[in-house]
Amino acid sequence: MNLIFLGPPGAGKGTLAVKVAEEYKIPHISTGDIFRAAIKNKTELGIKVKAIIDAGDLVSDDLTVALVKDRLAQDDTKKGFILDGFPRTIPQAEALEDITKIDAAVNFDIADEAVVERLSGRRVCKDCGTNFHIMFNKTKIEGKCDKCGGDLYTRDDDKIEAIKNRLVVYRKSTAPLINFYKTKGNLVDIDARPAPAVILKEFESKFPHK
Ligand code: AMP
Repeated sequence: MNLIFLGPPGAGKGTLAVKVAEEYKIPHISTGDIFRAAIKNKTELGIKVKAIIDAGDLVSDDLTVALVKDRLAQDDTKKGFILDGFPRTIPQAEALEDITKIDAAVNFDIADEAVVERLSGRRVCKDCGTNFHIMFNKTKIEGKCDKCGGDLYTRDDDKIEAIKNRLVVYRKSTAPLINFYKTKGNLVDIDARPAPAVILKEFESKFPHK
């Protein structure tokens, strides 16, 4: 099952992708995670993309497509994969057509106000990367990760100005992909407002295990 998770930032694509990857035994490929790891490790790629990502802008299509092409060439993607946060532009989607076949584009449907509420309250563990939320998914000890005890931080791109910019970028560059995949007949809408467990149930009903 070759899947794309499409939707605005903060729609819960990453959260669901982690669960689906575990359950369906396919890798979760998040371009955002790949970029963040590169930034954390101060690699050449990380140094190149840091300012772009902090501002909530998009990394160039060429760089991102090359990265995904490399990742999809690895053996663990043979039985399927989830692409989370890629493609984000029409040129990326067109490039992906030349790399592999996509079975479905899952569109996470949610209003902008809910996105702002989710992203501005998101806190991430600096050690293991687990996501929490100051209202919807509190940690037992404030500011400390429940999983590993690491300190929590707010992503630079989860600061309010960057969130607003990410939404503008999403509407302009990424939302047109909804029609792109609808026209191809492989768009599947998911209501992204409920809790993750409810969304997972909806996903399972739309993508039954073989
Ligand atoms: P995400 O975690 O998916 O919200 O991604 C975080 C940031 O990484 C985005 O705001 C972009 O700056 C960058 N990024 C992730 N995926 C892509 C992509 N497919 N194309 C361009 N930039 C991307």
